[in-house]
Amino acid sequence: MPGMSVKRLPKAARLTQYLSFAHITEERCVPFGSRRRTVTTLVGGVPIGSSAPIVVQSMTNTDTADAPATAAQVIALASAGSQLVRVTVNNEEAAAAVPEIGHRVRDAGVEVPIVGDFHYNGHLLLARYPDCARELAKYRINPGNVGSKRRDENFRTIVQIAVDNGKPVRIGVNWGSLDQDLLTQMMDDNARRAEPVDAKTVYIEAMLASALRSAELAEDAGLRHDQIIISAKVSGVQDLVEVYRRLAARSDYPLHLGLTEAGMGMKGVVASTAGLSILLAEGIGDTIRVSLTPKPNGDRTEEVLVAQQILQSLGLRSFTPQVTACPGCGRTTSTFFQHMAEDIQTYIREQMPAWRDQRPGVEELKVAVMGCVVNGPGESKHANIGISLPGTFEEPKAPVYVDGKLMTTLRGDTIVPDFLKILEEYVATHYAPATPVTA
Ligand code: SF4
Repeated sequence: MPGMSVKRLPKAARLTQYLSFAHITEERCVPFGSRRRTVTTLVGGVPIGSSAPIVVQSMTNTDTADAPATAAQVIALASAGSQLVRVTVNNEEAAAAVPEIGHRVRDAGVEVPIVGDFHYNGHLLLARYPDCARELAKYRINPGNVGSKRRDENFRTIVQIAVDNGKPVRIGVNWGSLDQDLLTQMMDDNARRAEPVDAKTVYIEAMLASALRSAELAEDAGLRHDQIIISAKVSGVQDLVEVYRRLAARSDYPLHLGLTEAGMGMKGVVASTAGLSILLAEGIGDTIRVSLTPKPNGDRTEEVLVAQQILQSLGLRSFTPQVTACPGCGRTTSTFFQHMAEDIQTYIREQMPAWRDQRPGVEELKVAVMGCVVNGPGESKHANIGISLPGTFEEPKAPVYVDGKLMTTLRGDTIVPDFLKILEEYVATHYAPATPVTA
């Protein structure tokens, strides 16, 4: 790091030190992902805050007024692992449809809290549709979008309905819809300072002021401190990190993390991963959403899988067995091992719904599929089950390691099914069947 001085020992001492563990005690390491302390907010029974695992959530993109379509997507998102699902409540038809959506989801045997996203007219819709207000587990309020004339009054109306129904709120500030009056006032104040800060800093400070001031207003209106979650979303990774670091330092509200308008495909996945990972590694963030733009008719559940993979890659939560596969190189001139890695990944994904119910703990399983002897045996030994495939010019055999020990060596055309059989046996013998719930 710039400006950081590292003490350099004489060469002989350095060589000795490399082989000792002494430096471990000398280095000050910040524990990875050690969570910032927050209060805990209950959203329809799902705890959000530092005492609970980081919650994955998502949002539908159906017309909420179309209750069957929206309920189907809520079910799909929840089945993929989304612990909360948000729906937009943008007009009277949508507000009227919310109770039916809730019933349909429950009738399908799915229990997932549904969150309502309100802009401009939330105070009117929640007041006119009390069943909608009751059905929703949380209301998202954007302080920049509660009406320009009677902003505080409208905000207080929503909060009062939340208080009356015992619901928490998310105060969700967004870079693209920041309270313009507040921003103008802060820009003007900054211009009058002897040493004005740059415009971006004012923008960030205005976002934080909007969020924290709104939280205070909500508490004044009767919401408990532990009924408020905050988000302050921006679309740039560096800005996101800056905003949330400051927000985290100034409050103990649980934080909802997400890069807004992350984008499509690889760009959206990478940008969200980059931004969220930095913050999560610093212990900032209690619930996450990955805002991907799906392809036309694309699978909405992708955002849930990406969010889970971010948390699992960081070692913060486990959702599904992980397959470690080497990237391949000139030693793997055939695509055999790529197909095998894909077949194993697909097999695990297809088995997971049943495994999750029947074999709790299987989400911790680690599988390695390696392309040759260079790293194959070593990496395979670190996994619960690993296979090292033959590289180019290597003898056509594939040693299989189970819990670090060579178990067998597979040969011939049936390597993949034979390996999957070993995998299935491992799951059956290492993860006890779930105890049936008795009435
Ligand atoms: S394990 Fe072998 S095949 Fe895979 S990347 Fe390393 S050297 Fe290449």
